[in-house]
Amino acid sequence: MTPKLRALYALPSNVNQAISKMSYEFMSCRDWGHSWRAYTVDIQNTGRRKTFHETLLCSRCETRKHRDISTIGEILATHYTYPAGYLIPGWGRVTKNDRAALRLAIVQILLAREPEGELEIR
Ligand SMILES: [Zn+2]
Repeated sequence: MTPKLRALYALPSNVNQAISKMSYEFMSCRDWGHSWRAYTVDIQNTGRRKTFHETLLCSRCETRKHRDISTIGEILATHYTYPAGYLIPGWGRVTKNDRAALRLAIVQILLAREPEGELEIR
């Protein structure tokens, strides 16, 4: 593997190491996608141009999605602000195999949970 590819794709051992330190919320968002809800919107006047700056908040991991929207509804720019610990140094683009490892880690967590209300059902 060339050094360039190493930077783009995480190696399996790095992925499992990263997952072992990741919170359940972070794993869920990386596997299922974020759970967005409206947070704020501000009107921004820059010279002659007016835009809306919208911020969405993930209700699970608190990542923020920022969108600059024109007065006719076009998305002009999008960027994200991540909570501490969400971004993993050295982990590049999430591959199909990374997602598989995340999925299995979530399944293992859910299987290990005690079913709620089990005693009442008996
Ligand atoms: Zn999230």
